[in-house]
Amino acid sequence: MAAIKRVALVAHDNKKPVLIDWIMKNKVRLESCELVTTGTTGLLIHESSGLPVTRVHSGPLGGDQQIGARIAEQTIDLLIFFWDPLEPMSHDPDIKALLRIATLWNIPIACNQSSADFIISSPLMEDYDRVVPDFSTYEQRKLPKK
Ligand code: PGA
Repeated sequence: MAAIKRVALVAHDNKKPVLIDWIMKNKVRLESCELVTTGTTGLLIHESSGLPVTRVHSGPLGGDQQIGARIAEQTIDLLIFFWDPLEPMSHDPDIKALLRIATLWNIPIACNQSSADFIISSPLMEDYDRVVPDFSTYEQRKLPKK
């Protein structure tokens, strides 16, 4: 993992207060991280904590997919994604895709406050060699000719 952790943060509207509360409790730890967020989540984080954030689009406008692309490009080390299990969303396919791509690339994922607490307080935050899966065989596979 990069020495400076690159943390992606996304929270659905009903979960934004929970995320902001978590951010405030962990502000000192997060000061040494690079934060990449979806649009509204990032605005709230910056307004409430003063932490610098790099914002992509709002989730429903493609932000989840932008975060997913960064994960596939190996520029995100950790995903904090407080999605809402009680509300259907217009961008449900994107949410599933983000969780899928983070799982595929072996990125630590926290979908609720307690998981985020475990991850942020882990000694592995200081020193961890994440296994980046090797998909070279898959990428060079030959499909049977028709
Ligand atoms: P938002 O997007 O941070 O712009 O609200 C999050 C989401 O709904 O995925």
